[in-house]
Amino acid sequence: MKMKSEPNALYVHIPFCKQICAYCDFAKVIYQKKFVNDYFESLFFELKKIPKKKYDTIYIGGGTPSCLPLDLLSTLLQKLQKKLKKNYEFSIESNVEDLNESFLKTIQKYGINRLSIGIQTFQEAFIQLCHRKHTLEQAINNVKLAAQFIENINVDMIYGFPFQRFEDVQEDLDILVHLPIKHISYYSLIIEPNTLFYQRYREMEDDKLQAKMYLYIYHYLKKHGFCRYEISNFSQKGYQCKHNLTYWHNQHYDAIGLYASGYLSNQRYTHTRNLSYYNQKQYQLEITSLSLEDQMFEEIMLYLRLDQGLNLNQFKQKYQVDFMEKYKEIVKKFEQQKWLKVSKTKIKTTLKGSLMLNQILLAFMEE
Ligand code: SF4
Repeated sequence: MKMKSEPNALYVHIPFCKQICAYCDFAKVIYQKKFVNDYFESLFFELKKIPKKKYDTIYIGGGTPSCLPLDLLSTLLQKLQKKLKKNYEFSIESNVEDLNESFLKTIQKYGINRLSIGIQTFQEAFIQLCHRKHTLEQAINNVKLAAQFIENINVDMIYGFPFQRFEDVQEDLDILVHLPIKHISYYSLIIEPNTLFYQRYREMEDDKLQAKMYLYIYHYLKKHGFCRYEISNFSQKGYQCKHNLTYWHNQHYDAIGLYASGYLSNQRYTHTRNLSYYNQKQYQLEITSLSLEDQMFEEIMLYLRLDQGLNLNQFKQKYQVDFMEKYKEIVKKFEQQKWLKVSKTKIKTTLKGSLMLNQILLAFMEE
């Protein structure tokens, strides 16, 4: 089945960072002025080429978009602002250290209405372990300063660092919920190959402790008004991230920049991860066409991450397949284990099941 929906979201990748974090596997390079001008020439060329005129959401991620010089950032924001529809969501990521008045005034001037701040942890031992540069005091003060300019603030957090105790997460949470923020993305640390953490700590992952931390985070945030709507995302009422919901709702979206991935006409495309190729306007790395089976699996994989769950009628309409008939055995097994909950119209992952999501998805994939 061909899905013809028009993309309503645009992702823009800025790969430059002032320092490299020890756990990071994103597409990033150390900021060097000589690469930046070429990168932007190539990025703006790409922006001009995309046929889509206006979007509901634009998300500038990285890398560290906030490390750009303000004149270049202003040019980027100005160009992107023209591509927004009414009632838009316009997000940018920032490091703590870059949150000063000039940066905040600039993003406010050009219409940014959602700011995502990478904090990861408030504890200086772990900040240093990650090779990040902020201090606890800076994190608290700069988030408060940012809230004077942008109302809708997300904070990115990580749990499960090497040597991190359960009590450390409790302390992070206690600081977090007293900040003037609307949304929290709280990810478990995954130690990826090609990172410093992998060389040093790959034996130290502790799934049991991580599960205990996750359940505590879930309940603590709920008690403080941040309800989970996606497995790693929590928000106050009305502040779910519209842009990221496009991904989780398995809808089409455009993407530009180094190693950016988009989804169009049932094809997933990924740009090159090589900065020299990108700067020479050789964008493409690969295009993957999704078969009907692939599309159905992705739909299941994404919707089971969401607390709203998968709508069975919508699934049938979209793929002409009766979900409960096709996956009868899997659903029965996981329902008995209380990992999945089924109603007449929906299937959802339970809280217990969200800790087992990989196992659940493996079963759907093998079907
Ligand atoms: S985590 Fe963010 S700031 Fe750190 S290296 Fe990766 S992209 Fe850069």
